[in-house]
Amino acid sequence: MLKGIGASQGFGIGKAIIIEDVKLDYSAVKYSDAESEKARLSKAVEDFISETKHMADELKLTAGEKEAEILEGHITMLGDPFMLSQMNDSIDAGNVAEAAADSVFQMFYDMFASVEDELMRQRASDVKDIRDTLLRILLGLKSVDISAVPKGSILIAKDFTPSMTSQIKKENVSAIITEIGGVTSHSAILARAMGIPAALSVLNSTEIISDGDLLIVDGFKGEVITEPTGDQIKEYTLKQEAYLKEKESLNVYFNKPTITKSGLVKKVYGNIGKAEDAQNVVQNGGEGIGLFRTEFLFMDRDRAPTEQEQFEAYSTVAKTMDEKEVIIRTLDIGGDKNIPYLDIEKEENPFLGHRAIRYCLDNKELFKTQLRAILRAAVFGDIKIMIPLVTTVDEIKKAKALIKECADELENEGLSYKLVPVGVMIETPSAAIISDLLAKEAAFFSIGTNDLTGYTMAVDRGNAKVSALYDCFQPSVLRAIEMTIKNAKKEGIPVGMCGEAAANTELIPKLIEWGLDEFSVTPSSILQTRKTICENE
Ligand code: PEP
Ligand code: MG
Repeated sequence: MLKGIGASQGFGIGKAIIIEDVKLDYSAVKYSDAESEKARLSKAVEDFISETKHMADELKLTAGEKEAEILEGHITMLGDPFMLSQMNDSIDAGNVAEAAADSVFQMFYDMFASVEDELMRQRASDVKDIRDTLLRILLGLKSVDISAVPKGSILIAKDFTPSMTSQIKKENVSAIITEIGGVTSHSAILARAMGIPAALSVLNSTEIISDGDLLIVDGFKGEVITEPTGDQIKEYTLKQEAYLKEKESLNVYFNKPTITKSGLVKKVYGNIGKAEDAQNVVQNGGEGIGLFRTEFLFMDRDRAPTEQEQFEAYSTVAKTMDEKEVIIRTLDIGGDKNIPYLDIEKEENPFLGHRAIRYCLDNKELFKTQLRAILRAAVFGDIKIMIPLVTTVDEIKKAKALIKECADELENEGLSYKLVPVGVMIETPSAAIISDLLAKEAAFFSIGTNDLTGYTMAVDRGNAKVSALYDCFQPSVLRAIEMTIKNAKKEGIPVGMCGEAAANTELIPKLIEWGLDEFSVTPSSILQTRKTICENE
């Protein structure tokens, strides 16, 4: 089995077709004179535009308007008079049209590839795509005809450019596999838009797999099963059928507002741990992000992410969510989330110890680096800050004072930032009991039932002997939830839930009755949660 990144959900079974890169070698092309080179270039640009327009029209039908904009962007980019004049200057300097195009695009490629912003870096792959197509046209080469592959094909390439993806006929392609690219790459976005399962970043797949190999692709896990057995084929065929059936029944809720039968307007958000996951929330119809678990940015590395690294992650999420609300939870470490390089002392009772906001208030530099990054990213969207494991009013006051301090520093440094609302996670019995007092300081609440259940029931969720007590339907937990919602309402602040219980179909009717405003769940549970809300009073 080969392992990559699951970038588009579903299971695909089919025969491998390796898409080789076309060789774009122009070393044998001879320079005649500047005028004819320029004429060749201008004819190639014309052909590029009409070819790309045609592909954009096709893409509108197969993937949608928004996706076709990527190709329309290519036309605009190539039509840029500055780019054309640079290419003509290069021809005047004695270069053939191919070399002129290659060098000018290389210059733009280097420019985009060196930018730290993830979305800008994506533009580098657009530039490469335009360059390759233009060179192919100039050299008179035909591209691989992806549109002609037979039904049941699994396409494998180093990467799929938008122009390659636009030729895909979704009824013939069971899955796609690439060697590079992540969940925010164009290949991933387009595969999701077309509903084709995709496993990306499957290393050396074009070499390991041969044309005609039978494969199974798991687009959830990013796994590729080579040489599947008959039983595996049966198993995955059934899985795909079940997945499609379920998708069909939930799809009607994709663009539907979240309104209860009695007309109450609610919101269903997604929980994420990495910036790339935001795409998953959009893909699943989320109306915002109710919990960004930022501690994941600090894990699997040997030093804390810098302010710039964090700024990039937070601003990528804000931009991906396109003005929709994004609630960023500050570092929630300690307990079961240990980060070796932070030298957290070993404690007798780590779950009751120096963790989350307690640790952050005692490690101001680390905390302020995160807060500054969030405030700077806030100019790109609707960001809010949420403080975890609060047990006292003093903690939120101190956190707000530090946020103000960071804003003042950014102001003095002349950096752009936005002061954002600060909310509190209600995930300890203390916070629920004093939720009337916290509501006066907090801009919003989000109930973290995962911890609230454990702390209220005094139960370790890892201990099988007491796991029956770890139950959000216990009256004490229900009362804590109800009390929190009521106190938020009394003070007029919004209240959400980001613990797993927000997706519990049996609990949802109670949460609606008490007045919960926002339900933040795992992205794959968004549509089911909306369906349950819409079916209740
Ligand atoms: C919670 O405690 O409910 C919560 C959402 O936080 P986490 O699961 O990250 O502890
Ligand atoms: Mg928690």
